[in-house]
Amino acid sequence: AGASVRDLVVEGLTVRFGGIKALTDVSFTVASGSLHALIGPNGAGKSTCLNVLSGVYAATEGSARYGEDDLTRLPRHEIAALGISRTFQNMALSPTETVLDNLLVARHRHMRTGFVSAALRLPRARREAAEHEAAVVRIAELIGLGRTLRHPVSDLPYGDRKRVELARALCAEPGLLLLDEPVAGMNFNESVAMEEAIGTVQHELGISIVLVEHDMRFVMGLADRVTVLDFGKRIADGTPAEVQSDPDVLRAYLGD
Ligand code: ADP
Ligand code: MG
Repeated sequence: AGASVRDLVVEGLTVRFGGIKALTDVSFTVASGSLHALIGPNGAGKSTCLNVLSGVYAATEGSARYGEDDLTRLPRHEIAALGISRTFQNMALSPTETVLDNLLVARHRHMRTGFVSAALRLPRARREAAEHEAAVVRIAELIGLGRTLRHPVSDLPYGDRKRVELARALCAEPGLLLLDEPVAGMNFNESVAMEEAIGTVQHELGISIVLVEHDMRFVMGLADRVTVLDFGKRIADGTPAEVQSDPDVLRAYLGD
């Protein structure tokens, strides 16, 4: 059985920052359409891994094949063009604009729809605009933001704003979504809403997801497979049940 075209196969990934080895020979496979969690204590190398997959950091060694392409050899914009999307905390939403407008801007940026032809109100551009709005509304409704669409982002509670960031990443219609600690700073109800949204995204849109998370419990209900990192090395890989009872994993978390 060969790898599916949209599997992500990470092999022997090593990342050095000067004298620091943030990742050492890390390998894992994300099957197409699955949710793969990357967990581990602080400093384990989880964010570094996502940063390599999205082209923010260069790999020192190893590969990350997504279909025909090795992501470690591509610049950020080419990785994005392959349909790989992530949330960026520093790419702020426009707080005074509505949720709908924020999502439409993201949609246009990714889809390269000409604002000029839209402004000229060409029939084709108008039809496209209606299609974009329908797609954006569908994404928002899917993750429980339907009733927020006409509100300015600044009016929303923290948990909703974080789901707007998720919606924005989905506006590019990615095949692979990279999420770094999506429930960080959330209260219980907010994290439940985010968990539901992520599960819905995976199942309804058929997207592969790599979910980085510090809290082991959060990923257990969501993940198909889990890779556990500690000090930049893979210490376990398996189903949630397998890694949860792994002595090395328990030891890593106890020492955290
Ligand atoms: P995690 O996300 O699991 O908490 P990180 O990937 O952020 O861990 O960090 C792993 C290690 O790599 C840490 O020792 C961190 O200090 C180091 N590191 C991460 N990014 C950089 C960077 N840009 N420059 C230097 N060291 C870094
Ligand atoms: Mg991190």
